[in-house]
Parts: sequence; structure tokens; C-alpha cells
Amino acid sequence: METSYSPILKDPKSASEHNLGEYSGFAADFSLNSAESELDWLPNGGLNIAYEAIDRHCKTNRQYKKALIWEGKAGETESYTFEDLRLLTNKFANVLQNLGLSKGDRVFTFMERLPEIYITAFGTLKAGCIIGPLFSAFGPDPVKDRLENSGATVLVTQPELRARIAEILPSLPELKHIIVVNKFGRAENPLVENDLEWSDLMNLASDEFNSIETSRDDYSIMHYTSGTTGKPKGAVHRHNSVIQQYITGKWVLDLRPDDVYWCTADPGWVTGTSYGMVAPWTNGVTQIVYEGGFSARKWYDIIQQYGVTVWYTAPTAIRMLMKQGADLPKSYDLSSLRYTASVGEPLNPEAVVWGINAIGMPIHDNWWQTETGAIMIANYPSMDIRPGSMGKPLPGINVGIIDEEGNEKPVGEGGNLAVQPGWPSMFQAYWQDSERYDSRFKQGWYLTGDEAYKDEDGYYWFVGRSDDVINTAGHLVGPFEVESALIEHPAVAEAGVIGKPDPIAMEVVKAFVSLKEGYEASDSLRRDITGFVRTKLAAAVAPREIEIIDSLPKTRSGKIMRRLLKARELGLPEGDTSTLEED
Ligand code: AMP
Repeated sequence: METSYSPILKDPKSASEHNLGEYSGFAADFSLNSAESELDWLPNGGLNIAYEAIDRHCKTNRQYKKALIWEGKAGETESYTFEDLRLLTNKFANVLQNLGLSKGDRVFTFMERLPEIYITAFGTLKAGCIIGPLFSAFGPDPVKDRLENSGATVLVTQPELRARIAEILPSLPELKHIIVVNKFGRAENPLVENDLEWSDLMNLASDEFNSIETSRDDYSIMHYTSGTTGKPKGAVHRHNSVIQQYITGKWVLDLRPDDVYWCTADPGWVTGTSYGMVAPWTNGVTQIVYEGGFSARKWYDIIQQYGVTVWYTAPTAIRMLMKQGADLPKSYDLSSLRYTASVGEPLNPEAVVWGINAIGMPIHDNWWQTETGAIMIANYPSMDIRPGSMGKPLPGINVGIIDEEGNEKPVGEGGNLAVQPGWPSMFQAYWQDSERYDSRFKQGWYLTGDEAYKDEDGYYWFVGRSDDVINTAGHLVGPFEVESALIEHPAVAEAGVIGKPDPIAMEVVKAFVSLKEGYEASDSLRRDITGFVRTKLAAAVAPREIEIIDSLPKTRSGKIMRRLLKARELGLPEGDTSTLEED
């Protein structure tokens, strides 16, 4: 492994009075758990994320401070104080209780970034239920898999999205209630028979709810994440994760009381809940939520208009901004910005440096994943940045680079990125799949599925995934999920899916398919297959490219060799093909 380090970059805006000093191996008790004393526990010793994020501020001078400033895609705006959110989430907790839900029941959202998604999430947590937010761009198949597996009893959605998944709803016997939010009356006929209307339920519910009774070990949030094989798994977190989400908001994102914070992640992915909901509000910070999608001009405009001070985004978005040039940001007043960070994919060194030229500060890369629940490795504010490195583990997080037997590898050598279990926001289960959960642990390590190496100064460098999971624009895509959708097309016999390198999205999904007898390869068939999977999955995860080939390379046991498809695509050596099936 080559260890040619990039030069250290000093962040001129870094000197911060409350974030970590240069961390060089504090004792474990100077750790994330030290944040426990900064939270307000429930009177009976319990812990509840909604209480920490919302209610506790209402006993302080932050009660009428703006918590959420929302801008809709048509330019509508709304703002909510912590007190507004307390009352509204009380109401939604009562709605759930009135519907007969009890502790541990699953409530899912399939909604765009509307304020109601935040009210639903925290109301659900107050009621002791588990919240599962789904990515709003999904098509019917991914939504069905997740609702079916989780046994969700309530789905909160909006008319347009409900219509998109109408066909799957009758096949979900455990789904008892569909609550529809018709924001600004945007839809003409919002209700289907037996659906419940959000505003009706909320109007009838009391805004007093005093019976929050959750412990640190009660389940709180679940997010589905993709693996190489099988359907996505529901990674389940507990209320205890708030400890790490709160303190990393402070230490890594440098959140301070007067900040205006903007996290661009969708609540359907873990960054959108841990850092788009919990971290800012437990830190008592005002956050901006923009309903619309990416647009370079609009994004710079949001920073300017709302005076955003701390910005948490993703490498693909930064690369898209870079494509528009460094002059565009100069035509906006971005002087409010104090700190910028990114997560989800490797952040190219050029992107870190671009930040300095274009927005006046480097981008701070950090690493974590659905299962870790919160940031684990980071270039935190007081640290010198090594462009291209994910940074260093947070105090109390013990990270190792290990070999297949679980032994630690020497500095500079690549291996499996692993973490010693026990960090506060560690996932507790894959929903109803203990075998898969157990398979993630080996010799006292949690295996992250990533490969990395550590340099002699303790900085970690991402190398790649150790499995076939594809990372496209920060979304993990399991090849199996895409292959399953492809072979539902009547012409497709077999499918193999890989990640193809892409300068903006890091990887795009590429599919190879072979056809059933009687079908001829043609452009129109290829387009038909492309359109078919797009309606089933989501544009973000459906294959960008489909190539029709005669047959797919398989092992003797019949497994499609994605590794070989990828090597061929990239023109790389094919490696060991001794297990390859002979034609
Ligand atoms: P998810 O569980 O969907 O949040 O995806 C987590 C995965 O995204 C990690 O396991 C990595 O493969 C990738 N990832 C997240 N952050 C980084 C980063 N800073 N650098 C490189 N890869 C990252």
C-alpha cells in the first residue's frame, strides 16, 4: 500500500473554544459517553430522543427560538419554534395512541422533505414507537420490501407518493393505517377510501402528552441498508444513540447556539435523521430544510438568504457544485458560512481544496454508516486536514484495520475497517435477522464492510468496499435488489449488476443482462428494460446503463461473478477464474 500523504491543510476558521483539541489517544472515559451528563434525562431515569431534541429546550430561553425554517419547492415558507414542535409532536404522539399503537410498533414515512416528516418522527419517538423514514424517490418494490419486513402498522405519506405505490398496499396485511398529508392542498383528491387525513387527526388530538417512558435501550429509529446478497436489512437503533449524535454535532460539526445549520441529506437515509434531525436540535440550533432537489444556484442562494453558518453535505453534491465553477459561488454572499463538512463517499482532495477557493473554507470529510448511527472518524474542526483522508477516530472509538482472521494490520497496510463494539449509537439489530447481525462481528470487532488503511499519524484513508455494494451519489445500492427487479422483466433471463466509476456520482449502477429464448437484443428492448426497472425501483438506484450480453459469467455453483463483470468493464486483469463455469 502506497502511503504518499497529501500535505496537511490548516483550516483558518478552525480555532474553536468548545471542540476537541488535537486528539492523540485520550483515555476511553474522555469519550463520547461523557456527553451523558450534558443531556436532560427523563425524571424516571429514562432517555428519549424527542425529549432531548425538543421538549427540554422549552424549559429554557430557547422555548420560542426557531428550530425549523422550511422552504417548499414552490417557494412557500414556514417556521417552527421549539415550542411549536413540542406541541405538534405531542399531538402526533396522541394520534398514534388514539389509533391503538403501543411501544415498539413501527411507523413509517414515505414523504418528501415536508415539516410533517419531522413532526411524525419525533411524535413517534415520544409515543415509544419506532420510526422508519423511507426515501421519497423509491418506487413500489423497495417500499414494499421495507414495509413488509418491518411489519409497519402506520404509513404517513402524501397523495402523489401514495399513488405511486398504490398497487403494493393491499398486499401488506400488517399495515393498518395510512395517514395522508395534503400540504397546501396541493392534491385535488387526496383521500382514498379508509385513508386518514393528517389535519383531521391532528386537529382532534390533544397537545398535551406527558407519558414519555422510554429507556436508553428502547428501539428508536430504523433505516434499511443494502448488502451484497438478499434484500436490504433494517438496521435498528436505540434511544441511547442520541448521546453520540448530540456530542458529534458539537465536536465534529462545531454546532454552537447561534448557528443556522443546513444538512442537505434526505431523511430517508441515516444522515437525514442523525444529522438532519437529532444532532442540530439536541444542540438547540436553528436548522433550514429545503424541500427541493439539487440546483447550484438555489443552494448558494439558500446559504446567502438564510445566513447558513454550518453546512453538512455530500461529496457528489460538492462535485456537482465544482462542475459549475468557482466563479458562481463568488456571485453570492456566503460570508455567513463558518464550517462545512461532508459524508457518504470519499471526498476527493481537489474538493477539499476547491472549498477554500470557492467558499472560503475547506470541506471536512468524515466517515460513518447506517449501522454506526453517528460520526465515527472525522476531520474535526481543531484538527489539521489531510485532504483525501476521512480523519481520525473520535475519542472512545477504537478503530482497527484487520485481516481476515481479525488480527490488526500494520500502519500503512490496507485491510478491513473494523470498530470495537460499544459506542453509544451502535445499531442493535437487523430487524428479524439475527444471523446477519451476528455475521457483522468477528473476534471482538464490528466489520464495517469497508477497506481502509491508517497512516503513521493516525489518519484513516478509504480504499473501497470489501463487498459488491455500490455507492452511487452516496446511496448504497445492493446489486441483488436491482438484479431481482431486472429479472422480473419478461425478456430478461439473468442479470448481473456492478458499480461503474463515475466522475460525479463516484459510481453509477451498470447492469448486464442476458435474454430469454425468443428475444433479440435491440435498442428499443434495452430502453424498455431501463424504463421497467426505473418504475419499480427509483431513478437514483436503477441502472444508468444496461448492456445485453449472450451469457453472464458464473461460478460452478451458479453464482454470477460480478467481480469478473467489473474487471471486464474496466479492462482490468480478470484475476482468479478457476471457479468459473465452463460454457
Ligand atoms: P450508509 O450506510 O448508506 O450511510 O453508507 C455508508 C457507507 O458509505 C460506508 O460504509 C462507506 O462505504 C461510505 N462512506 C461513508 N462516508 C465515507 C467517507 N467519508 N469516505 C468514503 N466512504 C464513505
